[in-house]
Amino acid sequence: MQSKDLLQLAEQFGSPLYVYDAEKIKSQYNRLTKAFSKVEKLRINYAMKALSNVSILQLLRELGSCLDAVSIQEVQLGLHAGYSPDQIFFTPNGVSLEEIEEVHALGVQINIDNLSILEQFGTKHPTVPVCIRINPHVMAGGNENISVGHIDSKFGISVHQLPHLVRIVENTNMNIVGIHMHTGSDILDIEVFLYAAEILFDAARNFKNLEFLDFGSGFKVPYKKDDIETDIEELGKKLSKRFNAFCDEYGKELTLIFEPGKFLVSEAGYFLAKVNVVKQTTSTVFAGIDSGFNHLIRPMFYGSQHHIENISNPKGKERFYSVVGYICETDTFASNRRIQEIAEGDILCFRNAGAYCYSMSSNYNSRYKPAEVLWINGEGHLIRAHETFEDLLKNQIPLPESVVNQ
Ligand SMILES: *Cc1c(COP(=O)(O)O)cnc(C)c1O
Repeated sequence: MQSKDLLQLAEQFGSPLYVYDAEKIKSQYNRLTKAFSKVEKLRINYAMKALSNVSILQLLRELGSCLDAVSIQEVQLGLHAGYSPDQIFFTPNGVSLEEIEEVHALGVQINIDNLSILEQFGTKHPTVPVCIRINPHVMAGGNENISVGHIDSKFGISVHQLPHLVRIVENTNMNIVGIHMHTGSDILDIEVFLYAAEILFDAARNFKNLEFLDFGSGFKVPYKKDDIETDIEELGKKLSKRFNAFCDEYGKELTLIFEPGKFLVSEAGYFLAKVNVVKQTTSTVFAGIDSGFNHLIRPMFYGSQHHIENISNPKGKERFYSVVGYICETDTFASNRRIQEIAEGDILCFRNAGAYCYSMSSNYNSRYKPAEVLWINGEGHLIRAHETFEDLLKNQIPLPESVVNQ
């Protein structure tokens, strides 16, 4: 997408605004499937928590993607978007037995990530095909909040508990059809993937009825120019080879599954916000925008990088700015960042705004959430309207007069 298109969309739809480039989602999807073209049965389950607008889900369905859902509401959204139950995987963490049973009743493949629920579910429903989430304890991931494979992680069943796991499966006579792992986000080193894969293969040897192995996600995407990223092509080459060898050994063509979120949508997203005020202090120049961590929390939440451009002045001389929001708390998007000279009213564009941006937004400070636009075939389509005052009041129930006046 070009800056002039983004600027035009900001004018047409107002700011702040999320824009997603359909072409980029498509090219990332094709890149991933191509990298693993040597694997006979490949399945991509888009981790929809990254960005769950129904139009995005439909776009990915057209491309051939399936879904990874982490709540029953995500499952329902997926069904609403036209996915069939067998195209959805349920990979929750720490949800109730009731929720797992409800999702199973919808016909969706469930994935269990702790021994307690496994035993309860297996006892009640011994014939249901179940996938188990293993924690291989591979230390990986961009930072503590998104690294989920380490020894104290709450995710998955520890590989060290495999003997216990196998005993539960034997006692309940459960039907284990898949093994899953997801070691965290922003994994750089493909050796880490391959190492974790071996652990998954080892675990898989304990089960005779498998149909698939799910390697989760965690691919790192570039956040700035010349940033490093997971070498998907190299990973594809090496892991496909190992996977195919494992299938030979296992005696069955298993399905290889990935659950990418960021990889598919991060770079496709742009967040556009207008500069309300340029404020010089004794030590810095602030650019205050018409948004805040209510709309884009990642920089404040886990220090993520979003490259920022002034698309109103693309050829402007670069100066140093701190870009901040309007929330009544520290609300910093970038400190001491080189950006083309900013004037009040300019539109700033945040890159990598496709994943975990809109989906993590809130109404904090009683602000409306932004609109979302999908850029497809050279045209912007509104796929979610800006909120209105009614949205803030929706579900609020006024107290009766008699109680208020007490
Ligand atoms: C969040 C999540 C993913 C997606 O991770 P990305 O880093 O966005 O690719 C995949 N699998 C599971 C189980 C997840 O919770």
